[in-house]
Amino acid sequence: MSKRDYYEVLGVSRQATDDELKRAYRRCAMKLHPDRNPGDVAAEEKFKECSEAYEVLSDEQKRAIYDKHGHEGLSRSGGFGGNGAGFADIFGDVFSDIFGGGRGGPRRGSDLRYSMELTLEQAASGTTESIRIPTLEACIECAGQGTANGKPAPKCPTCAGGGQVRVQQGFFVLQQSCPHCRGRGTQISDPCKSCRGAGKLRKEKTLEVKIPAGVDTGDRIRLAGEGEPGDRGSVAGDLYVQITVKPHDFFERDGSDLHCSVPIGFVSAALGGELEVPTLNGKAQLKIGEGTQSGKVFRLRGMGLKSVRGGGVGDLLCTVLVETPVSLNRKQKDLLREFGESLGGDDRHSPEASSWVDKAKKFIETHLKP
Ligand SMILES: [Zn+2]
Ligand SMILES: [Zn+2]
Repeated sequence: MSKRDYYEVLGVSRQATDDELKRAYRRCAMKLHPDRNPGDVAAEEKFKECSEAYEVLSDEQKRAIYDKHGHEGLSRSGGFGGNGAGFADIFGDVFSDIFGGGRGGPRRGSDLRYSMELTLEQAASGTTESIRIPTLEACIECAGQGTANGKPAPKCPTCAGGGQVRVQQGFFVLQQSCPHCRGRGTQISDPCKSCRGAGKLRKEKTLEVKIPAGVDTGDRIRLAGEGEPGDRGSVAGDLYVQITVKPHDFFERDGSDLHCSVPIGFVSAALGGELEVPTLNGKAQLKIGEGTQSGKVFRLRGMGLKSVRGGGVGDLLCTVLVETPVSLNRKQKDLLREFGESLGGDDRHSPEASSWVDKAKKFIETHLKP
C-alpha cells in the first residue's frame, strides 16, 4: 500500500507552522487514541499514521527531506526511526565516497524514538518514568572481539586493519569500505558463538526519564547520546521520548487551561447554591448564583496546568449545563404546569427568550414582508 501524504494525514497545509502541526496531531490523538477506540483496528492504524506524519513533519530536517524528496527520500535516508536522517545521509551515496567519509567509516549511531503515554495527572505534576530500550552492548563471551577465544582478531589483510580501501576511479581516488571485512578491519576465522563475530549483542537497558510538569501531546524530550551506539567508537545517537497524553474522563485540556462540563438541575440553576467540582489536585466549591443560565463559565484561577515553557499556571473553566428534568411522574408534571401558570408569561422570568422573540419579530417585519 502506498503511503498517504503526511500533510494530508494531519489535515494541514504545506506551510503549516509548528504550532499548527502540534494542534493537528493533538486533534488526531484525541479522536483516534486506542483508549478511546478499544478494539478498533482501523482507528489504531490511523493513529499510527498520524504519529508517523507528526514525527517527520515536526523534525525540521526530516520535513525538509520529505518536502524535497517525499516518502522515498525518507526511506533512503534511513527515515522513520532509522538513521538520524540529515543532509549528509541522504546524499551519502553520491558524495561521501568523494569526500572520503565512506560508508564503511565510523558512523554516528541512529536516533531512537520511544513513545510514552501519560495520564493527564502525570503530565500535570511531572514524573520520573523508567523505560526499557534496546541497545547494543559489548559481548561478554568474547570481550567485544568477536572471536571464539576472545583474543583480538588478526588484521584484515586486504585493508591492513584500516577498514577502508582506496580505489582509483577516473580522476578520483575513492575511499571505500573494505569489501573483505566490511569495514571492521579484522579477519575472524573462528567467530564467537554468542555474538556471531559482531562483538556486540542486543540488550535492553533501563533509563530514568524525567518528565517536566506541564508536558503535552506532541512534546518531545531529547536524551542526548542515549540512542544506538555509533560504529567503532563514534558518537552515539540520541533518544527522543515522544509524549502522548491520554484523554481524561473529566477534563479537556487546552494548553495550560482545563475545561470541564458541570451539569446541574434546573431547580439548582434557578435557586442557586453550592456545588463541589473535581480539580486535578482534589476538589473545589463552585458558588452557583440565583438564575444561572446554561453555558455560564466559572473560571477557577490557577487550577489548570503549569506550562513547560514557563509562564503562569492555567485555569480550570467549568461550563454549567442546565439539565431539563426527564421521566417525570404525573404529580411532578402537574407541579410544573402549576409553576408555569404562576409565571403568567411575565417577560422578566426569561430575559433571553423575550429579547429573542423581539428580535425575531423585527426580522420578520423588515425582511419578510413585501
Ligand atoms: Zn578489510
Ligand atoms: Zn562475542
